[in-house]
Amino acid sequence: MADYLFENAHLLTMSGDGVGYVRNGAIAVENGRIKAVGATSDLKQSVVAKETIDARNMCIMPGLIDGHMHASYAVVRGVAQDIWNWMQAGLAPYHKYMTPAAFLAGTRCAVVEGIKAGTTLFGDYAWPVDGWGDVFASAGVRAVLTARINSLPAQGMAGLKIGDLYPFDEARGKETIDQATAFIDNWNRAYDGRINVMYGPQGPDMIGLDQFMECKKMAADRGLMVHVHTAQGDREIDQMVKRYGERTPAFLQEIGYLDEQLLAVHLTEATDEETELIAKSGAKMALCSGSIGIIDGIVPPAHVFRQAGGSVCLGSDQAAGNNCHNIWNEMKLTSLFNKIKYKDPTTLPAWEVLRMGTIEGAKALGLDDEIGSLEVGKKADLICLDVTEANVLPILDGPIRTLVPNLIFAATGREVVHSMIDGKFVMRDRIINTLDEQAIRENVQIQGEIVANNVAADPVQRSMKLLEAMEAGNL
Ligand SMILES: [Zn+2]
Repeated sequence: MADYLFENAHLLTMSGDGVGYVRNGAIAVENGRIKAVGATSDLKQSVVAKETIDARNMCIMPGLIDGHMHASYAVVRGVAQDIWNWMQAGLAPYHKYMTPAAFLAGTRCAVVEGIKAGTTLFGDYAWPVDGWGDVFASAGVRAVLTARINSLPAQGMAGLKIGDLYPFDEARGKETIDQATAFIDNWNRAYDGRINVMYGPQGPDMIGLDQFMECKKMAADRGLMVHVHTAQGDREIDQMVKRYGERTPAFLQEIGYLDEQLLAVHLTEATDEETELIAKSGAKMALCSGSIGIIDGIVPPAHVFRQAGGSVCLGSDQAAGNNCHNIWNEMKLTSLFNKIKYKDPTTLPAWEVLRMGTIEGAKALGLDDEIGSLEVGKKADLICLDVTEANVLPILDGPIRTLVPNLIFAATGREVVHSMIDGKFVMRDRIINTLDEQAIRENVQIQGEIVANNVAADPVQRSMKLLEAMEAGNL
């Protein structure tokens, strides 16, 4: 007997090459997996369920996939946008004062925000502080967790002049590799595969070559991907040219790093030729349109990557200077930014970015056998949206069907009513069952204020550009 039968819904199954629309559709869930999907009239005949849910006036679709995020920075949401050198000038002074309590408060806040906007998979990338994995495990969400590895000195880049080569500390590299490996061996496929892991050498410029290669081998030995910031900024390209005499893509190809094991994040500085080289190698791309737009003013080359046959997942990156963890925002911005970049309104249409947020995202993370579409046998990660909200109406079925464009260009995430992950309701009627949302909201405010007070008391930080903007009455 099925656990749940949803009926009378607009289904976006995302199976096949399009959005897999089913009018008046139904979906049955049993033991965490999709047991049947099709027309309501058929499933009513063939499925007996413990609970039947009338999803009339709802759209049911796969849960959204956020493939690259630094969730902890939600505790300093809004401190690093509208400026140059966002990382050093905006984020770094705050990062310096982020305690483990602040880190976890931010991570939990981002998880609440994501669940409420329909995210079911969280691709978080962080130092593996105690309790990090438990945030996702106890929230009942799906996660791909990457413990950050680098061989930068523990005190960071403080004291370095811009343009100096980063000094590598091999002992520090080993320490972070060991930490990450312990985390990985503890969490790999945990909770019946709900929690997944990757190796995360932070960038090819942030770790010595031997240790960079060691990460790839250790990942391969475990059948895991490597999640690497790649061509992420002019800082990185400058470091690579100075250290190795080559730009990042050519260097990665030369050392054998370009293959299907690689999840390459950002490609902000990659040329079209370099982007094609990476896509054709089988490597995947994580695309953070909102973040890179806000912090760099650049549109990453996702369209070229897709046209070269590569799989792209979307990522919300970080809230210090993207300000939100909302994949509806990323889908819309990805479509819009590329239309503007190419002066072509046919570029990245609504259906294609919806695929990036679902099935293509699952492919990029190597999880498309399990999630990303509503198909029999896959894990039941799905969301139900109220499509009677004013901003998505009317829902017309012909001559032009309006559901997908209205969702992509008008939905905010607040239309998401229910969220099911692994066949369990994580959110029902907008109430999250697995965690104490109110306590998390109160705590992130408290922890955010503690970090901010420490930054305010640090005399070194007085010259921050955003402080000047505030004094001028602009914040
Ligand atoms: Zn990142």
